Amino acid sequence: MKEKITMKTPLVEMDGDEMTRIIWQKIKETVILPFVDLRTEYYDLGIMNRDRTEDRVTVESAEATKKYGVAVKCATITANAQRVEEFGLHKMWKSPNATIRAILDGTVFRAPIFAKGITPLVPGWKKPITIARHAYGDIYSAADTRVSAGSRAELVITGPDGTEKRITVKEFSGDGIVMGMHNTDASIGNFARACFSYALDLGVDLWFSAKDTISKVYDGNFRRIFQEMYENEYKARFEKAGISYFYTLVDDAVARVMKSEGGFLWACKNYDGDVFSDMLATAFGSLAMMTSVLVSPEGYYEFEAAHGTIPRHYHKYLRGEPTSTNPMATLFAWTGALAKRGELDGITELTAFARRVEKCALETIGDGMMTGDLALISTLENKKVMNLDEFLNEIARRVAEGK
Ligand code: NAP
Ligand code: MG
Repeated sequence: MKEKITMKTPLVEMDGDEMTRIIWQKIKETVILPFVDLRTEYYDLGIMNRDRTEDRVTVESAEATKKYGVAVKCATITANAQRVEEFGLHKMWKSPNATIRAILDGTVFRAPIFAKGITPLVPGWKKPITIARHAYGDIYSAADTRVSAGSRAELVITGPDGTEKRITVKEFSGDGIVMGMHNTDASIGNFARACFSYALDLGVDLWFSAKDTISKVYDGNFRRIFQEMYENEYKARFEKAGISYFYTLVDDAVARVMKSEGGFLWACKNYDGDVFSDMLATAFGSLAMMTSVLVSPEGYYEFEAAHGTIPRHYHKYLRGEPTSTNPMATLFAWTGALAKRGELDGITELTAFARRVEKCALETIGDGMMTGDLALISTLENKKVMNLDEFLNEIARRVAEGK
């Protein structure tokens, strides 16, 4: 028996809910623990423990991520009225992802996992397109209201010295609507920094899109902050890495994305990112093949799957029936975190192990062995549908063989 790989710094482990909590345990048992002397600092973000700790556990897990630098998170239930009743919760707790994102002030990058036989709906796409959404401000924290005929809507900005600046938005002759939205230079700057450094991490070009021809001041500000940061801090490193930064109008970006081969990072404003990330996830095949990583401007990383807790499969599991749930996105969250930990601690075997697990998982799918959701979309001729355990066992077998 080969010796297990040892770790230096612990990973921050954020456990979660329902079917993904089951997948979490099985991934650890089957694919990681036999090979790695795993060190983690464990936080149970399951809904009952969040309720018990009045959500302190979520805050503590985010603080731990700041301390250690790398976290891996399981999907969690976001409480809503129905969940409050289902679990008898004390409160409708905030989404853990929103809490963690606010504490780390991070940017979320989503990237599809490419496997043989799972072809994107856009035939030209040969490489993953990673999308970054600026998850702060704009219409998501806007003030809006209905306006009745005969009203005048104005923007009033009161300066620190009390002086007022007034800009007329519209003299309404009929009924209508009005909205005031904002962003901050600090948040845009953090977003830009996360995008530039993640593009360097991935070794891919960075695209940024906005609409500064129409929105000259608002979107123009985004464009300026990106451009200045690029010139002052990243240009030399980008050139050395052989990658480029490219700004274009959002409608031009959409046209180029469709005609591209993929293989770049696309930074989007909040609303664009909300919409385009769903479009890309669908076009790349499956939400179960989409990973997500939160990167803070200081370089802290939190890896997770983009999908939720898959309750339908969980109820089946509770009835004792095997499910054919796809663990790929959660598995790649683990490998992403382990590879990053290895990189930061200078443990090359740990990073190499993580990459080998990914390779074995992709080869398993490429050889026609996959979960039901993938079998439905795979173009391979001979397919074998596996349940969750069989699929993970096959990956572990290949990792052990050193294939
Ligand atoms: P979901 O858990 O992603 O599941 C929706 C459907 O997508 C499933 O029923 C399943 O379809 C399919 N699916 C998703 N992941 C799959 C996988 N790995 N393997 C196979 N099929 C998969 O979304 P939801 O039902 O809207 O949300 C459930 C809970 O998750 C909610 O409480 C929500 O708050 C939470 N959530 C958490 C996160 C997060 O923590 N990041 C993100 C999103 C949602 P079939 O039923 O057709 O097989
Ligand atoms: Mg969306």
